[in-house]
Amino acid sequence: MKVAIIKETRAHEKRVAASPETVKKMIALGLEVVVEKDAGTAAAFPDAAYAAAGATVAPDAAAALDGAELVLKVQRPQLADEGTDELAGLKPGVTLVAILGALQNRADVEAYAKAGITTFSMDLIPRITRAQSMDVLSSQANLAGYKAVVEAATEYGHAFPMMMTAAGTIPPARVTVMGAGVAGLQAIATARRLGAIVSAFDVRAAAKEQVESLGASFIEVDAEAAKEAETAGGYAKEMSEDYQRRQREKIHEILKKADLVICTALIPGKKAPVLVTKEMIADMKPGSVIVDLAIENGGNAEGGKFGKIVTTANGVKLVGHANMPSRIAADASALYAKNLLNFLSLIVDKETKGLKIDTADEIIKGTLVTRDSQIVHPALAPAPA
Ligand code: NAD
Repeated sequence: MKVAIIKETRAHEKRVAASPETVKKMIALGLEVVVEKDAGTAAAFPDAAYAAAGATVAPDAAAALDGAELVLKVQRPQLADEGTDELAGLKPGVTLVAILGALQNRADVEAYAKAGITTFSMDLIPRITRAQSMDVLSSQANLAGYKAVVEAATEYGHAFPMMMTAAGTIPPARVTVMGAGVAGLQAIATARRLGAIVSAFDVRAAAKEQVESLGASFIEVDAEAAKEAETAGGYAKEMSEDYQRRQREKIHEILKKADLVICTALIPGKKAPVLVTKEMIADMKPGSVIVDLAIENGGNAEGGKFGKIVTTANGVKLVGHANMPSRIAADASALYAKNLLNFLSLIVDKETKGLKIDTADEIIKGTLVTRDSQIVHPALAPAPA
């Protein structure tokens, strides 16, 4: 079976869906791998490294896709009205594995069904132990949390650690992390390694212990309400008006003393909660920096702009970089590629080396979006008549 890796075409995307290491492993599995020219260049994987790993390097996407049964991508393909019609290059019967954001992009899903392609949305990998090695949201959020702190440090005009020098003492930076999921916990660990004093908060009660184990202090709003804040799947729920008001008061006090804020709070399928208001930002110190990882979902901080750095009248920088994992493209690609390789072990038959889609498997069922020109995902498919 021929597997194609094509170059990403969306703005702000430097990642690639396979690394030379995973190409080597795919070839060892008995697959034939074709990589589009320059697909990995922006992620520091040159064509020569793919060729050395055993892949064929094709001059363009059409040549890479010619005869391919399986296509691996990072982003969902662009549709005709988005500029480059990537979907047109995918022939009926082809299987596409990518971060499709299927639940948020219904029109795209309909287009995949119409095009007759089989699709898997990697962002829908269930958060169960067996699927951890395929969990792209975790692998990418982890790196995004790290990079958010590094970006914050770049924009901040002071040092993070306390420094005692002959010329005087530099106090340690105070970092507050909003949301202590995968990205938030990595942001805490990174800021601590740089020597900052870190505080963090999350609506989920379970986050307290994790935050404290990393050496940060946990900002508690209401321990009782926090017990109810989590869904069975481990995600956050939307909180009551009263809880949100008390949460805002607490955050307001903390932000008056904070130097850096890393925002990571998300609620699946909803707009990100606004946790840092304009009034709070107006009371922050000049030179302080807010990096908003939730910007693609509307942002946790008011006044932030997607893809931009905004400086407020009182000198606070709001950093709204788009696609944080892409800013650390080499490692983000390497881990994403490994997630895909682990996923392939579920859908590639060891004997025939062809695709074998077992819809009884919980991971397959959770990620399979379209098949045989139908939308089959339970959260998207029309209920049977
Ligand atoms: P996420 O990206 O959906 O959200 C980030 C964080 O924001 C979460 O911790 C959430 O509780 C928090 N948040 C939401 N609303 C908030 C608010 N108003 N104020 C403060 N914080 C708010 O979450 P995630 O990083 O994907 O992780 C969600 C959960 O899933 C975590 O408990 C994580 O440990 C767990 N998880 C489990 C597995 C697994 O078992 N395989 C894998 C990954 C993550």
